Amino acid sequence: MKIGFIGLGNMGAPMAANLVAAGHSVTGFDVAAPMPEDVTAAASAAEAAAGRELVITMLPNGEILRAVAAEIIPAMTQGTGFVDCSTVDVESARAVAADAEAAGLLPVDAPVSGGIGGAAAGTLTFMAGGSAEAFAKARPLFEIMGQKAVHCGPSGNGQAAKICNNMILGVTMIGTCEAFALADKLGLSRQAMFDVVSTSSGYSWTMNAYCPAPGIGPTSPADNGYKPGFAADLMLKDLRLSQQAAEAADADTPMGMAATELYEEFVEREDGAGKDFSAMLPRFESRRRS
Ligand code: NAD
Repeated sequence: MKIGFIGLGNMGAPMAANLVAAGHSVTGFDVAAPMPEDVTAAASAAEAAAGRELVITMLPNGEILRAVAAEIIPAMTQGTGFVDCSTVDVESARAVAADAEAAGLLPVDAPVSGGIGGAAAGTLTFMAGGSAEAFAKARPLFEIMGQKAVHCGPSGNGQAAKICNNMILGVTMIGTCEAFALADKLGLSRQAMFDVVSTSSGYSWTMNAYCPAPGIGPTSPADNGYKPGFAADLMLKDLRLSQQAAEAADADTPMGMAATELYEEFVEREDGAGKDFSAMLPRFESRRRS
């Protein structure tokens, strides 16, 4: 397939490389990042999109997505797939999809879970929103770049699934970290805490697969000085999107709001920027009840 790929940063570059490795012809554009090997460089986003059968975007936020979409939609031919894999606000995803549909394109919002490691290994999970026809067109590429693609319903539902999942993740990580910090102060060893919780009703992905305590449980960013992994900054981005969506939908999300405030504090007023989101554990460990 002739594919256009716009936004070749930490995630986009390895995803595009996997498409090339699978035999697809990829033309790329990025305002700053270098082109991965065997991706043909275009001079603009419109040039990368024109004449392709499917165009993928992997961009920082909804504002940039809207700007890029305004540029590429007129350059694309009817029936072309337009797959946005960025994490953006639900509103931007739906607005871009409506413009794309009006132009006869097949839009899918398909944010991913799995991080840079998953992008490189081709094991991402895609959460997709769009028509059945648009999803079917994108699916073979999801199978190359990932291990699972879930069709979540109409446009915007992929983003909805992503922010709901990550709201749970943020809340759960904070709960796991504060419980470890409490256990420390109660004189319970971290190993005992892990052995009990990972096989009891407090278990979760954050405890069992991504344990925030160094040297305990599976290997995780905690074992690598809390180098990300999944950066606290990105968790804050996703939590803010969850609160933006909750505001728009008039949904009561008190734990999501508390998690957003805590990560905001950690990233913007403490030393959390650039650390893995599990570095909430040393944060709690160093604090007292106030
Ligand atoms: P990144 O900043 O490394 O990559 C974004 C790329 O977009 C950059 O190379 C940038 O130069 C490019 N760009 C910006 N404006 C552009 C424009 N107008 N035209 C063309 N290119 C432009 O970010 P990333 O880590 O690759 O993340 C991309 C998206 O994936 C984000 O929405 C992020 O929230 C999401 N995401 C990231 C991770 C992760 O672990 N990094 C995990 C899941 C989802």
